Amino acid sequence: MLIDVVTIFPQLFSQLFDFGIIRQARKRGVLQTRVTDLRQFSTDKRGTVDDRPYGGGDGMVLKPEPVFKAVESCSQPSKSSTHVVLMSPQGSQFDQDKAKELSLKAHLVLICGRYEGIDQRVADHLADEEISVGDFVLSGGEFAALIIVDSVSRLIPGAVSQGGSVLEESFMEGLLDYPHYTRPEDFQGWRVPSVLLSGDHRRIQSWREQEALRNTKQRRPDLLEKDEVTDNSDNVEEIRDRRGVR
Ligand code: SAH
Repeated sequence: MLIDVVTIFPQLFSQLFDFGIIRQARKRGVLQTRVTDLRQFSTDKRGTVDDRPYGGGDGMVLKPEPVFKAVESCSQPSKSSTHVVLMSPQGSQFDQDKAKELSLKAHLVLICGRYEGIDQRVADHLADEEISVGDFVLSGGEFAALIIVDSVSRLIPGAVSQGGSVLEESFMEGLLDYPHYTRPEDFQGWRVPSVLLSGDHRRIQSWREQEALRNTKQRRPDLLEKDEVTDNSDNVEEIRDRRGVR
């Protein structure tokens, strides 16, 4: 998979793409990242990429020409497999399902806005979709793009050695994760639940499923409603069957 980022601050990404799972995915050859400096596509010598808003008002707006040109340069040689995403607080809310969907694309181009935003013609005629990372306003799309690159890259097949560990995390089965413990067994009198020390894998699995469900009911009941699990059944198997989850 290839992920292109279009930004006026390319330096922001150089370090972050060189650590953890993003780095691992790149080293394993399942992910390629490229960062494009929008200023390279400015139409003047000073590298201007913004201008005052028509109709007046505060702040500057990113001009359409450099953005269209930058995305076009990323889409070479073939445009057909390129999926263009505009980072925007007005976009649809990013979640794990969207991360899964994006992880199946061959080529993503993430456009990062700045200032007051980007000329509307980018959203209307260039982007395939607009994505928001939450109901708050960032000063630029770079941090939103990083969230997307991070969460998508760990889902690319082959990016993570133990494929199971990403499949069993929060949201992957419509539930939050179960609690995790490591050594020591007793930390300041707080003991690890005894079932986890039992060595009985069936009991451990069933405890984890119950805890995931309990956790979700307690903290995020909306996730259960989202999947139309509206009754209060405590029967994990029944809920899993109904969702076709294993
Ligand atoms: N005036 C705009 C906000 C511009 S913020 C508005 O009120 O809608 C500048 C840029 O930061 C945006 O163009 C976008 O690329 C990015 N950005 C800000 N908040 C974001 C969010 N919640 N999700 C994704 N991108 C965001």
